[in-house]
Amino acid sequence: MANRNNYLAKADPVHKAPALRTLFPSLKELRLDLEFVSDDTRPSSSHVHILHPAASASFRYPCPVGGCTGSFKLDVPIMRLLQGSQSRLTDEATCGGVRPQDRNTGKPCPSRLIYKAEATYGVERNVPARLSRV
Ligand SMILES: [Zn+2]
Repeated sequence: MANRNNYLAKADPVHKAPALRTLFPSLKELRLDLEFVSDDTRPSSSHVHILHPAASASFRYPCPVGGCTGSFKLDVPIMRLLQGSQSRLTDEATCGGVRPQDRNTGKPCPSRLIYKAEATYGVERNVPARLSRV
């Protein structure tokens, strides 16, 4: 049992994720607009990530609240988007980690991430060329 637990702890998906181009050869670019909203007095912060085919297929972003144990895991929705060759996705995720001041109570962190993903694909070989005939 102990060995199995060790094995799982070492299987860190962040470092094992293959490159995007390995999984999705037709993907040219993936743009992610991330807006972190916390209930702090701080304003929300937004970031734009442009991921190229060589980037690894891992979509986890740590909660911006200092000391919070949580992160936003977008792997599942973004993989689903790319697997379906879809171009756009807008959704939001909740942190669910624990902030330092809430360690005794275990109250989950209410920070949210509003995200927008936009995928651009290259021309696929098996797309019929009829569209160019006008
Ligand atoms: Zn958090």
